[in-house]
This record gives sequence, C-alpha cells and structure tokens, in this order.
Amino acid sequence: MGQFTIFDYMQKHQYEQVVHFFDRSTGLKGITVIHNTTLGPALGGTRIWNYTTEEEALVDCLRLARGMTYKSAAAGLNLGGGKTVLIGEASQVKSEAYFRALGRFVQSLNGRYITAEDVNTSTKDMSYVAMETDHVVGLEGKSGNPSPVTAKGVFHGIRAALFRKYGSAEIQGRSFAVQGAGQTGYFLINYLLEEGAQEIFFTELNPRHIERMRLEHPQVRFVNPDEIFSQEVDVLAPCALGGVLNDETIPRVKAPIIAGSANNVLLDEEAHSRMLTDRGILYCPDFVINAGGIINVYHELTGYNKDRAMADAARIYDRLLDIFTIADRESISTHAAAKVFAKQRIQNIKNLRDNYIPR
Ligand code: NAD
Repeated sequence: MGQFTIFDYMQKHQYEQVVHFFDRSTGLKGITVIHNTTLGPALGGTRIWNYTTEEEALVDCLRLARGMTYKSAAAGLNLGGGKTVLIGEASQVKSEAYFRALGRFVQSLNGRYITAEDVNTSTKDMSYVAMETDHVVGLEGKSGNPSPVTAKGVFHGIRAALFRKYGSAEIQGRSFAVQGAGQTGYFLINYLLEEGAQEIFFTELNPRHIERMRLEHPQVRFVNPDEIFSQEVDVLAPCALGGVLNDETIPRVKAPIIAGSANNVLLDEEAHSRMLTDRGILYCPDFVINAGGIINVYHELTGYNKDRAMADAARIYDRLLDIFTIADRESISTHAAAKVFAKQRIQNIKNLRDNYIPR
C-alpha cells in the first residue's frame, strides 16, 4: 500500500467525500467517509479502533463505507453508504464529551451522513451523539436490538436458497448446522425450530450460550467448533465471525447451501465466492442476507414499527431469488451477482431522476 493516494482511490471507486476531524477539547480523532448518496443519505455506524497507522484507519473507513452502499442498495433502502472510524483505544477515549463532539461533527454534515453504533460503540454512546445531532439511529427505546430482525432476514434467505436448490422453501424436514448461537444464531435456531426443522447442529465457544441451548432446546445438538463445516446437512449457517469461509474450510463443507448472518464471511470475496460456485454450493451473499439489522434501523427514520421492519426483512427472500437468477444468467458467483444487483438499482434510480419535477 506504499503508493496509496487518496484522490486516485476516490476516483477509482467513485467516492463522494472524505472528512477528517479533530476535537481540541477531547482529543477525538476521526474520519467520516461518504461513498455514494444517489439513493439517500449515507448511513453507516461509528467504529472505534486502535489503528496502528492513520492510513490503516482511512483504508478501513473507505472499504466499510463502500460496503454500506451495496448493502443498503441491495436491501431496497433509500440510503447511501458511509462510515465513521475513530482512532483510539475504546476503553480509554470514551466519555460523554467525546461522543457529543462526534455528534457535532455529524451535525455539521447536515444530514448527508447518518451514524449508528458499530464495533466498540453502544446505544448509550449514541445517546450522547443524539444530544448534538438529529442524524443518528439505533437509539435506546427506538428500534432496539436488531438481532431478531437480522435472524428473521436470514431465515427468509434460507427459505429462498432451499427453494432454489430443491424447488420447495419448506423448512420442515431439512437439517441445519449453525456456527455461533449468540444473538443472531440463537434467534435463527428458534425460528427454524418453530417451522419444524428436522435436525439442527450448533457450535459455540461461549459456555453460557451452550448451556442456554441445552436448557431451552436439548434436541439441538452441540458439535465441536472444528466439526461444524463438515456436517452432512442441507444448510450451513455461519453466525459467528468473519473470514470463516476460506481455503481450509470450503473443501470440508458438505452442505449444498451456505446462508448465515456473519459479516465478511468470505476471507477473500472473489477467490472464495468462485471456489463455492465451482463446488456447486449455493452461497447467499452475506451483505444481502444479513441486511435485517440495517432494515431495522432504517425504519427509525420513518417512525419505527417492529411489524413493518419484520415484513421488510422478509423481502430478502425475493431479492435473493433475483440474485441467483443474475448469477446463472451471467455465469458469475452469487457474490458478484449481488454487486451487479445493487449497482443496477443505484443506476436505475439515478436514471429516473434526470428530469425536473417540482415538489
Ligand atoms: P454474537 O457475538 O452475539 O454471537 C456470535 C457467537 O459466535 C458468540 O456467542 C461467540 O461465542 C460465537 N463464536 C465466535 N467464534 C466462534 C467459533 N469459531 N465457533 C463457534 N462459535 C463461535 O454476535 P451476533 O450479533 O449474533 O453477530 C454474529 C455475526 O452476524 C457477526 O459477524 C455480525 O457482524 C453479523 N451481523 C449481526 C447483526 C445483528 O443484528 N446482530 C446484523 C448484521 C450482521
């Protein structure tokens, strides 16, 4: 990355704006990137991380903001992509003043960017941000915990993949292997059981989550973490960390479908999505199937209603079917097809706005 030059990078990936900010009183150091606002204001969470270099922080922010453009576009939301990273050790920098300073910078962007929580920021932190700006979502007492909505979206994505593979979206009689029974994995397992899943295996590292499952659903069988990929099931659902689909794990996968909540689940997006296609495994692109969380906070902007958010998350079913069709038609991976799908929506909306209509 020795030759990294910001304007070349912005031009290559069509970024709109990069803002660096520093607050004199609290030492807040941050970057906000607005990638694309064709569809609406750029929305993306604020991440605090102790980056080793400023370039590392900038590149992370650029990459994450671009990801948000595609995620919201593919989710059918009227939002663009943005992100904020704050440089520092989270346990040391956080305070009311620190987050209010952030709120003031967010406000200065005048609604072009909306923030939310992300790694190392909480709803409580965002309540301080909200004291200084209207452009923040994911607040306490509003849309609440996004995980049940995310899991519901994943559930409908699984149904779409089953339909594509077997001609029936029925959960009944099907088997599943779920990696991670934390927030999203736990709700997903519950939804699958409610619909009559035949057999569910799960793996976990956290003893409390293993115990919860044993008490609530003893029929859901625990397997060791390294055994989850090779389970002979219909669907493998990664609901833990990113990067778990890689050169080492993909050859071991026996499930014909991969569909879970985990973000950035492919270690190398291009190489590993191709590898899955070559093995005949139907992969539900992570940023499409796990969009329930952003769909949930989006509804805060128009007056939150849980039933409406859940109904919107169910539309992930149709979107995935469209994406599978694009992948087949263009002989590309489902991951590449999801990008095509998102870019097409941005282009279509851009095109229809080329005439003047007074409002
Ligand atoms: P979580 O921390 O509540 O749950 C993850 C669980 O995975 C934890 O219980 C952890 O112990 C377990 N785990 C981690 N590594 C494991 C391993 N190797 N083997 C077995 N278990 C392992 O997190 P979450 O909110 O459920 O999110 C899970 C994934 O979904 C993350 O990648 C997150 O970014 C993504 N996601 C979550 C949401 C949401 O609404 N929560 C929205 C979009 C994407």
